[in-house]
Amino acid sequence: MKKIIVVGSGIAGLSAALAAAQNGASVTIIERAQEGEHGGNTRYTEAYLRMKNIDEVADDFVEHFMENAGGYTDPSIERETVRDYENWSSLAKSQSMLDAELLYSFSENAGITLRWLEKAGMKFDFLPTAFITTTTTRLLPVGGGLAFVDTLTDECKKAGVNFQFETTAKSLIVNDGNVEGLSVKSRDGKTDNIIADAVILACGGFEGSPEMMARYVGPRAINLRPVARGGHYNKGEGIDMAIKIGAATNGEFSSFHAEPIDPRSGIAEPAIFTFPYGVLVNKEGNRFTDEAPGTVDAHYESVTRRIYEQRDGIAYFITDAKLDDVPNWQKGSRTDQPPIIADSLKELAQELKIPYLALDKTINDYNASCVYGEFKPLEKDGLATQGLIPPKSNWARPVDKAPYRAWPVISANVFTFGGLKVDRNARVLDNDGDPIVGLYAAGETMGIYYRTYTGSTSVLRGAVFGRLAALHALGVKQ
Ligand SMILES: Cc1cc2nc3c(=O)[nH]c(=O)nc-3n(C[C@H](O)[C@H](O)[C@H](O)COP(=O)(O)OP(=O)(O)OC[C@H]3O[C@@H](n4cnc5c(N)ncnc54)[C@H](O)[C@@H]3O)c2cc1C
Repeated sequence: MKKIIVVGSGIAGLSAALAAAQNGASVTIIERAQEGEHGGNTRYTEAYLRMKNIDEVADDFVEHFMENAGGYTDPSIERETVRDYENWSSLAKSQSMLDAELLYSFSENAGITLRWLEKAGMKFDFLPTAFITTTTTRLLPVGGGLAFVDTLTDECKKAGVNFQFETTAKSLIVNDGNVEGLSVKSRDGKTDNIIADAVILACGGFEGSPEMMARYVGPRAINLRPVARGGHYNKGEGIDMAIKIGAATNGEFSSFHAEPIDPRSGIAEPAIFTFPYGVLVNKEGNRFTDEAPGTVDAHYESVTRRIYEQRDGIAYFITDAKLDDVPNWQKGSRTDQPPIIADSLKELAQELKIPYLALDKTINDYNASCVYGEFKPLEKDGLATQGLIPPKSNWARPVDKAPYRAWPVISANVFTFGGLKVDRNARVLDNDGDPIVGLYAAGETMGIYYRTYTGSTSVLRGAVFGRLAALHALGVKQ
């Protein structure tokens, strides 16, 4: 019987473990958290899935990924990737970019994986989301990420998976270049070397490591925090231990998925997705970005990146009584903290500790640039400012009707983009593009994202590549 070690029990780890156990392997999951707190980011997400229906990815899935497949990728290397994978040079196989081989595997296996998860007890439906305006299609698991964790943990246990909670993966055991096991340490201080046929690293990114955040993302990372408690468990050890044995990397190491949140709130994902219906100002009282370039689901990340660049990484979303013209705006305001409310801009500036004269000028200039037109809150209405820099491209109406309302907004780190380079079967590749025998990575531990995150695909990535890793490790053909 083959022995598989899976590190991490989020969607990637649980998918890997279940697929391995169903195919006859002896499986051990190594998990840092205690039982009931396990599941990392997966535990806290609503887990939107960028699908058109349960069998097919959304129409814009491949296109969006292709537009964000790397930096300025080298055309001489890109050209090679139209050949069969076997004929790619080692340079192309190990290149840091989302290559066609990986993307094809992802989109091809998305529906198959969701059907498999359905058989494991999950239910999927087109449920309401927090986005007031949208451009793509999103399927949701009923019960969110927690349902994935609970259902798959139960299924794994039924299939005989051995869970070692409160145990941390420390390093890989390597013999002649092949991975043959894992060194672990449990909370009671005991260390152990576990020998296995394959190790599947599914232990998240490095959003929970301030040291790696500073090293890769930079000194401004002090202004970031994981969007939910689960991210703190992901300290980058999986990525680190594989790099130490020569693994190639993929994904944009200096970036992360950014989401606008209220810093005062300690709940999971206290997102503020309502900012297109007002203005964003920084601590100096100045606007700094187009708050509404398009639908909020497609643009919240780029706007949040601008917030992150401001002094102390914070901005204030300022709006007025007319926010109530937006039907059910509360669904896009997930914080449990009340807005700061004031009857005048002067009072609001005092409350926010923003220089009043600057704020007054900013709002007056903005109001003067708003033109008459039909306000359509639930679709891109093209109601744009005129002659203002930066412009506001949609839903631009004067902020002039008391009471004024404001929410502080910072960028949260949903997860980091940098990870390990894998092939279509989630095998970790070395810097020559060759698979490291016995080593797989799935979920956040593998890197695929550059520039703008293709929203609602990270949970799917975990499920797809977790399952593929297990099938490949056991030689199971689909
Ligand atoms: C609030 C929130 C909302 C989100 N919304 C969406 C969404 O709608 N759609 C979407 O696709 N994505 C979303 N994401 C992102 C997505 O949830 C995650 O990227 C995905 O679930 C990660 O799955 P994973 O299995 O790779 O990692 P995780 O689920 O984070 O699991 C990693 C596990 O590894 C364990 N671990 C870490 N290091 C070690 C170690 N050294 N040894 C042992 N165990 C270790 C952790 O404790 C954890 O249990 C959201 C995330 C959050 C937090």
